[in-house]
Amino acid sequence: MTDTVKEELNKLEQAHLDFISTVSHELRTPLTSIRGFADTLLSSYDRLTPEQREKFLLIIKEQSNRLINLVENLLTVSKMQSEKDLLIYKEIDVTHYIDSTVQMLKNQYKTHKYICNYEKNLPKILIDTDKFQQIMLNLIDNASKYSNEGSTVTVTVKQNYNENTLQIFVKDEGIGISKEDISKIFNKFSRVDSPLTRKIQGNGLGLYITKTLVEKMNGAISVESSTKGSEFKVEFKIASPEDNAKKIQK
Ligand code: ADP
Repeated sequence: MTDTVKEELNKLEQAHLDFISTVSHELRTPLTSIRGFADTLLSSYDRLTPEQREKFLLIIKEQSNRLINLVENLLTVSKMQSEKDLLIYKEIDVTHYIDSTVQMLKNQYKTHKYICNYEKNLPKILIDTDKFQQIMLNLIDNASKYSNEGSTVTVTVKQNYNENTLQIFVKDEGIGISKEDISKIFNKFSRVDSPLTRKIQGNGLGLYITKTLVEKMNGAISVESSTKGSEFKVEFKIASPEDNAKKIQK
């Protein structure tokens, strides 16, 4: 084995160990909290007021949801890295899938306003619908959760005639992301650490998954942000109907 190969293997092993250590840490925090509150409920049930019991049960539920999200994201990451994760291309009108994602999130963020601006006569694009929906869910969910109640999230879809692409913009009026942090947010487990973000639940895998899925389907993702909010842009090539037919047949 050459020195370069050895070095590469060491790097891979280190990355693997770092990953295990981060995942264990992410799992331990909610599990410790669940066990602590369950212990308190079991040992002091009669001494607690009904309000305290409800509060502790809600924390247990919230932390369990955090664990479920983490495990689901980890499964997605592992699936994305497998060669068996094939893309199932379909020619679709993306606005239909954006509408259903927005509808779903409206139930969760009841005070937010959602505006969908779609250019007329948009072409269909060839895409894996499940993966496209996951991309939209991650971006619109982030736009909602990193902004105040009552603020507006705007999704715009238009055609870029020069580049022959379809552009999807997800814009919020939220807390924004600094220039320095923008270079990190697409990395695995990367979260901006600030008093504002610490209060918001997340595991830093959403944008990593989003970027990987966009690029798997030959798209591009970018972001612009200021203290007034952020705007994520996702762009996919518009292929000719003949090219699409070939790709579906493959
Ligand atoms: P998380 O689960 O933490 O939301 P993501 O990978 O989706 O993970 O995002 C990574 C980090 O990028 C977030 O923790 C947050 O700090 C920042 N971020 C993502 N989207 C936005 C947004 N729309 N506005 C402000 N910050 C954002």
